Amino acid sequence: MPDARSAPSPEGITATLHRRVNGWFAAHGRDLPWRDPACTPWGILVSEIMLQQTPVVRVLPVWTAWMERWPTPADLAREPAAEVIRAWGRLGYPRRALRLQAAAAAIAESPGGLVPADHGQLLALPGVGAYTAAAVACFAFGQPEVVVDTNIRRVHARLVSGRALPEKSLTAAEMALARDLMPADRDEACRWNAAVMELGALVCTARSPRCGECPVADLCAWRAAGMPEPHYRPTGQAWAGTDRQVRGAIMALLREEGPVPVAALPRRTQESGRLGSHRPEDAQLDRCVAGLLADGLAVRHDDGPEPTLSLPG
Ligand code: SF4
Repeated sequence: MPDARSAPSPEGITATLHRRVNGWFAAHGRDLPWRDPACTPWGILVSEIMLQQTPVVRVLPVWTAWMERWPTPADLAREPAAEVIRAWGRLGYPRRALRLQAAAAAIAESPGGLVPADHGQLLALPGVGAYTAAAVACFAFGQPEVVVDTNIRRVHARLVSGRALPEKSLTAAEMALARDLMPADRDEACRWNAAVMELGALVCTARSPRCGECPVADLCAWRAAGMPEPHYRPTGQAWAGTDRQVRGAIMALLREEGPVPVAALPRRTQESGRLGSHRPEDAQLDRCVAGLLADGLAVRHDDGPEPTLSLPG
């Protein structure tokens, strides 16, 4: 029987988690430009929007070019939308580019023209949700907001709750757990957010956690429970044949080749090689074009010899 008097308290365990995970982060965290102390809050906001759906390795070159070209919100705000969409390149979900520009415009018009430090003001910006507002308040302004992304949720689920995966969508219980785990010290709390996120990205990965490299493996509830199977089967995001794939192929044409006759879309998207073996039916193409028009990502011109589609002006 273990001696109950010598068992560490929950507070003691939490303090150990903080010390070890933050120590691991100091030694192993990636040297990313938006983590540089010289990076502006604007640079951090741009990185958080880009990283929402896209891996670091693909974001890095686009973020770097973006910050060179538009180092302040005002620089981005005055740019034509077509340029912004072009610069977004192949990061995916290009509506984010337009929302980021809308956020830049709102910031540029505000007194001082600077990214706000206040969580509520951040949340009021176009395209900025609860996660992004908390992340920018924390990483740009050192505020101890509770930051919860997919990686953090997975680490918490395994390390503390003993489950292979978090729930399918964020629950109040997960938020409460994340809040309970936050260090009391402001600086340590911000490091903790970044450190747990990095641990999830590099070590406690979704498919093959590298527990041998984990600084808290001996405290992990999931390992202690024998690594039980997930309580649901995760469904991967389909891509081939989806509207997302077809929209992506159309957007690539508009970005790289300029205006395209609407009637030529079936042939041109095929020739682009971006659809693989998928042959979209007219109804899918029509639906995707309508979606791009509704999202403001494309404009239809009916004033020439034939209708064309282009990026917005
Ligand atoms: Fe994740 Fe393995 Fe570390 Fe547990 S021991 S937190 S499963 S990497």
